[in-house]
Amino acid sequence: MEALKQKILDEGRVLPSNVLKVDSFLNQQIDVKLMEAIGKEFALRFADDSIDKVLSIESSGIAPALMVAKELGVPMVFARKRKSLTISENVYSVDLFSYTTQKHTQVIVDQRFLTAGERILIIDDFLANGQAAEGLLKIISRAQAIPVGLGVLIEKSFQSGRQLLEKANVRTESLVRISSLVNGHVTFLDDGK
Ligand code: 5GP
Repeated sequence: MEALKQKILDEGRVLPSNVLKVDSFLNQQIDVKLMEAIGKEFALRFADDSIDKVLSIESSGIAPALMVAKELGVPMVFARKRKSLTISENVYSVDLFSYTTQKHTQVIVDQRFLTAGERILIIDDFLANGQAAEGLLKIISRAQAIPVGLGVLIEKSFQSGRQLLEKANVRTESLVRISSLVNGHVTFLDDGK
């Protein structure tokens, strides 16, 4: 997606540990028009897949997921990072290792919001090693719902997430694929074409 690529080139900053900082349009301030366009793009890509619900994870997946859900005319649910042990027991819960914080957290979805047989589209901001996506897939499986696919805005193709999802047979759609962040420079996978 050209508009997203351009935004990354204009405003993205490469941090140590291969992290791309995009807080000026995605991770803190949000470019609403761009999110709208992203919502339309994913809705097109999954138009024939009879999606019942969009599932994401707080916090940075929420904005794009909301736009996708709006375009598809379905509800959006986001997994929460458990902050307290007193939350209701009727939750699907998985342990997740966060790439950016390098910490384990428990991620939960209330059982009321995922139903057996529902066709679920996962939307997230980044795909790195696939831990977030794998955690959400576990939650979908526990709910006996159907994972139709994963849509990510930015795939870091030099990390192992895509391979993990291919192994799990999950259709993965990325709007932008980055092949390298070496020396602070963003290289896209299709730059060589
Ligand atoms: P994964 O679980 O695939 O290893 O990492 C994906 C999650 O980590 C995303 O939900 C995203 O929030 C965060 N993440 C991974 N890599 C980056 C990055 O380069 N930049 C930012 N801003 N977030 C990232």
